Amino acid sequence: MKPSETDIKNFWKKVKKTPGCWLWTASLVSKNGYGKFHFKLTGKTYRNISAHRASYTINTGPIPDKLFVLHRCDVKHCVRPDHLFLGTQQDNVRDCVSKGRWNPGRYHAFKTHCPQGHPYSITNTHNVNRKIKGVETGKTNRRCRTCAKLRARIYVSKNRTEINERNRKRWAENRELLCKKQQEYRKLRSES
Ligand SMILES: [Zn+2]
Ligand SMILES: [Zn+2]
Repeated sequence: MKPSETDIKNFWKKVKKTPGCWLWTASLVSKNGYGKFHFKLTGKTYRNISAHRASYTINTGPIPDKLFVLHRCDVKHCVRPDHLFLGTQQDNVRDCVSKGRWNPGRYHAFKTHCPQGHPYSITNTHNVNRKIKGVETGKTNRRCRTCAKLRARIYVSKNRTEINERNRKRWAENRELLCKKQQEYRKLRSES
């Protein structure tokens, strides 16, 4: 994507330069705080891209595939070219962690379905207390009941003979116990 003259002019109209960061003053993407910029393509279609990515494209050059534009200054709506640098997805995550923005719990909370696509509905969700090294955290993890059932079924089919044997043993023990109790009971009745 090559920015046109108008794109570049429009871009700089929305930037407020401070001695430190150059701030994006137009619309922000409400959820994540990054700036938003419309690129005009072939005079017709518009494409929404982040303002800092637009800045990189306009001032430095095209962004290679699968690379992220990261901030040195941690100001998400800053578009100053020398505050921006390229990084991989891994750099992006590492950057988030080092700046204390990484909260995997919050990330998981947005999920509405389990990895196999079953919904986290009330009846399909099992809330498990989350522990870190044996210490309760007061938070819960969601487990998919459908997946748990499927796992149990697979376990049973794989260990069929073992389970059958275990059950037979248990039943035999129970039968013995019951017989003993019945005998004792009969004895008591005949004596009285
Ligand atoms: Zn900055
Ligand atoms: Zn599932």
